[in-house]
This record gives sequence, C-alpha cells and structure tokens, in this order.
Amino acid sequence: MDMNPLSHKTLSEAAASRLAASLLDGSLSPGTQLPPERELMNQLGISRTTLREALKSLEENRLIESRPNIGWFVCKIDESNITQAKALAGEHINQTPRVATDEPATRPRRVPVSPEKPLHIPNLKEDRLGTFEFISWWEREKVDKAKVLVVGAGALGNEVIKNLALMGVGNIFIIDFDNIEAANLSRSVLFRETDNQRSKAEVVAARAKAINPQIKVQYLNTDVTTGLGLGIIRRMDVVVGCLDNREARLAVNRFCYWLDKPWVDGAIQELLGLMRVFVPGQGACYECTLTEQALRDLSLRYSCQLLARQNVLLGKVPTTPTIASIIGGMQSQEVLKLIHDMPVESGKVVHFNGLNNHMHTTAYNPREDCESHWTYGEITELPARAERATLSDMLTIARADLGKEAMIELDQELVTSLECPKCHAKEEVLRPVSEITFEAGHCPDCGELREAQFTHMITGEEPFLHRTLANVGVPPLHILRAHNGYEYRFYELNGDEAEALHFRHFEQPEEEHAIPVEGRVRLKEEVTLEDAPSNPARNRIRLKDEKPLAEVVVKSANSGVRIGVSQKAVKVKKASRNRVRTQDPERTKKGQAKSAQGRVKLC
Ligand SMILES: [Zn+2]
Ligand SMILES: [Zn+2]
Repeated sequence: MDMNPLSHKTLSEAAASRLAASLLDGSLSPGTQLPPERELMNQLGISRTTLREALKSLEENRLIESRPNIGWFVCKIDESNITQAKALAGEHINQTPRVATDEPATRPRRVPVSPEKPLHIPNLKEDRLGTFEFISWWEREKVDKAKVLVVGAGALGNEVIKNLALMGVGNIFIIDFDNIEAANLSRSVLFRETDNQRSKAEVVAARAKAINPQIKVQYLNTDVTTGLGLGIIRRMDVVVGCLDNREARLAVNRFCYWLDKPWVDGAIQELLGLMRVFVPGQGACYECTLTEQALRDLSLRYSCQLLARQNVLLGKVPTTPTIASIIGGMQSQEVLKLIHDMPVESGKVVHFNGLNNHMHTTAYNPREDCESHWTYGEITELPARAERATLSDMLTIARADLGKEAMIELDQELVTSLECPKCHAKEEVLRPVSEITFEAGHCPDCGELREAQFTHMITGEEPFLHRTLANVGVPPLHILRAHNGYEYRFYELNGDEAEALHFRHFEQPEEEHAIPVEGRVRLKEEVTLEDAPSNPARNRIRLKDEKPLAEVVVKSANSGVRIGVSQKAVKVKKASRNRVRTQDPERTKKGQAKSAQGRVKLC
C-alpha cells in the first residue's frame, strides 16, 4: 500500500503559507498594511508567538516589510522574491480562491483566511470606512444596505444621524415637523446659525450627506403621528426614536409593533438619560412601560389633540449636548447591533445618571392587556395613490375581500364639524384633526373653544365618499385597515412608493438623467441650504407615471369589481384569504372604536 508521508509543517509555516498565497493571488496587494496582530491571530487561529514567527519568515523572504511603530506592509512581488513566495505558499497556492472577484476594483480585496469573516485589507488612504474592517463582527454590506428611520431631528436626532452617517449606514430617512431656532444651536452639532427657521429634517439630512456623500438620505417635514405612511416603516430595518414627548413615542411604538419592526428609544433631561430597545414580541413594549395614570392622560389628550400638539410645542425639556451625545451614542450602537442581527436587550431600559455616573439596567414587565400588542396580517399592495384613490374606491376593494359589511378604519380622526357651545354657530368641516390649528379650534366670534364632531370609521353612509384619501389625512404609501367585524385586511397604497420612498435627496443627478434643477443644493464642504428647492419632490424623476383615472377591473376572489384606481393593470398582490394572525380585532381595537363616532368636547 502506498501512502503519502504526513506533513510535518509547523503552525507558523502553515500561517506563512496562507499569507504568501494571499500575496500571490493579489488578495493582499503591494503597499497595503497588514491588519493588526490580534486580527491576524483571530483569523488564523494562532498565538502571537506563532504569528510573529510566520511574519518573520515572510520578512526574511522580502515579502513583507516592517515599518517601526506602524506595522507590516506588503512588498511588491517581482523576480527577486516570487520563487520564495511560491515556495512558501506551497500547497495553498492553487486552492486559495479569489474571493474578491465579485467586488468592484476600487474596493480593497479580501484575504481568504476565515470563512466567517474574510479578512479585508482596507486602503485607509482612500476608504473612509476602512478602519471598521478591523472590527471582527463588522459587516460592511449589511451596514451599507441598512435602512434606518430616525424620528426626530433635535438634540438626540443630531447625534444619532451624525453617528449613522459616520458609520456609513447606507439609507437614512429623517422625519421631523419642527423648524430650527436659535436655542437649538447649543446642542445640535449639525445646525448652523444661518439655518434659523429652516426645517430640522431637511438640514440634518443635508448635513448627513455632507458628512458622508456615500450614504443616501431622505427627509420628511411632518408630524410622525399623522404624516408618515406606514409603508415607509414597513421598508425599514430599524426605527430610532429621538423624541421629546409621549404622544410621538406611543405612535412610533404602535406603528413598529403593527409592522413588526424593532425601535430604539432615547430620552434625555439635564444630566439624566435613558435608552431602551423594543422588539415586538420580545418583552415589554413602550406602552407596557406607561403607568395607568400616564395612559389616562394620553387618552385624554388624544380626544383633545389640538391641545396635545400645542403642549408638545410648548413643553421643551432642558437638555445639554453632552447627555445627548451619551444617549445618542448608545442608541446608535444599538442600531448597529440590530443591523448586524446581534442580540439586544429588548424590553429593558438603561438608565444613566450623570450626577454620579451610575448606570443600571432594569427590565420592564410586559402587560397582558397592552393595546400596542397587535401585528398586521398579510398586506395587500394596491397600485393606488393617496392623492388619487377615493374613500369609495377603498371601500369597494375592501368589500370585494371582506363582504358588504366592510368598513375602512382611518388612523386619524376626521373632524366633520365644529360648534361653538356659547353662540351655537356650527361650521361644517371635513379635515383631519392634524390640520386644524389651535386657533381654528376656537370660535371666530366669541373665542370659545368649539366642540368638534369626529369620525374615523368609513361605513359607506358618509356624504363625502368621493373625497380622496389624501384629502382625509391619509399620507402617501400608507397602509389602510378594513374590517367586517371579525376579520381585518390591510391595504398599502403602493402607487406612492416611488415618490414617498427614494433616498435620493441631495443626490447629484446622474449625467444621463440630469435634470436642470434651479438652485440645487451644493455638496461642497459645507452644505448651504440658502437656495434649496422648496419642494424637493417637484424635481424628482417620477418612476411610475400614473395616467388619469379610468375604470379597471380588480381581479378578486369574490367578483370582478369596477373601480377607478389607475389605468394600469391592477394587480392585487398577496391577496390571500388568510385571517389576521394575531388577536381578536374587537378586543385589540377597542381603544380606537370607543371614540369612533361621537361628540367629543375639545377640552
Ligand atoms: Zn406593550
Ligand atoms: Zn362662539
């Protein structure tokens, strides 16, 4: 019997062989620096002594050179050293795959050392994110592809957005309804004196893009509780709350639960701060953390949203840039962990007390009867747009799926009339409550706060069914709920997607699609917003150009229903007959049903 003799290679020889093979196949290119010793030790699974022996043998063969106090650098392979390199590489020379072939030539190529994380030799002179490659768990592709929604662009939002941009989080969506004022400048690293009265969301988006032009950004200048289409949350990986009020936190919490998205909350006041991560179904959610009293206060304020919004605007909390950095930094790290699918402590809170620098973690108790614990079932994507589809259209679609009992449940209360309790003057209105200002809530004659009549259930009896969804306060790319008393269905206004979610703000136009934009924001060094277009959507390329309304047939399991949605073939995706997978809709929606139709005194 013929047997090959066993190899007596030492570990250091094997390591040198691997590294030499990487030099030969170009994965380690001449002039680049080798990763730090610890990294190489981990990747090769060897001790420091063994690694040093391997490096020494590479140095003796003039394959790498040491630069004192800096590290090891790869030498050029030429006639003088190629024989030695081949001899050292030995058996590894042919079996080493070139991992880097699918990557663009401009990116540093990888050393095929560990199958878990290929060793990446960055070019620190050209690659702004190169240093992160030395972090053992860092996955550049995941970070680059991540979609993160940041709600709030105040002190915390500034810190979080700055960090996300620096770390190269690829797609950042920023929402805030507020404008910048002088007092924000003391704790918001991205604001400048010249930004006074500009939209916070727009300015931070522009500055994030200026910090790192490789990322994509989008901003929305609106109130998260009423103006954000749920389809946007549905397309995010992580949501970060940088908020200063309970109403907005509660709204974000419910949206994230409905769409099964993790969210990271932060709160700061003077020297105190807290940070917590909520993952639906894993421990407590934000609403679980609220006391009975707080919930009562909130529901009171919900029936009185005019005052609630006024309070949000007035209720400024004193904060400092230092506590914002600490908590914003912690939030950003949790976002990074969620992007990497690393474990997070969901349903727990980290308290930081800057007075004594004490930090402690506490777990919240999940509440059995928490109203937030409800996840949407399968979502049907409709090629409809909030601006075009009417309440009647939606009702027709819902009835095709759920029968003639189907009703549309709006997320926002619709004010149908305002009446003065003193002079009894009644004004018919039909506007979402978010569009009624504090002033408009008062009687124009005597100044008394008027009583409002609300509704949020569309039953088919309403005299305003011809109104568009946008007209009754439904934001673009929203997901609407319909139910027939025992089953829910969810419909997304997918026709809005191209315009509502693009991550293209402050992007330089590509040459072939270049559109001359009047006063385009410049990205040289500091972004100036002096001449930013007032409506950035106006100049965007429209990806789906919708034709005027026309009758089309929606294919439905029940019947062919004629509705006016769009001239395109209306395809109802994923319209399964599945029931909502979670709970009894009656029980879960009871909170909203209470105020469905009734007279509510504003305050
Ligand atoms: Zn809860
Ligand atoms: Zn009056």
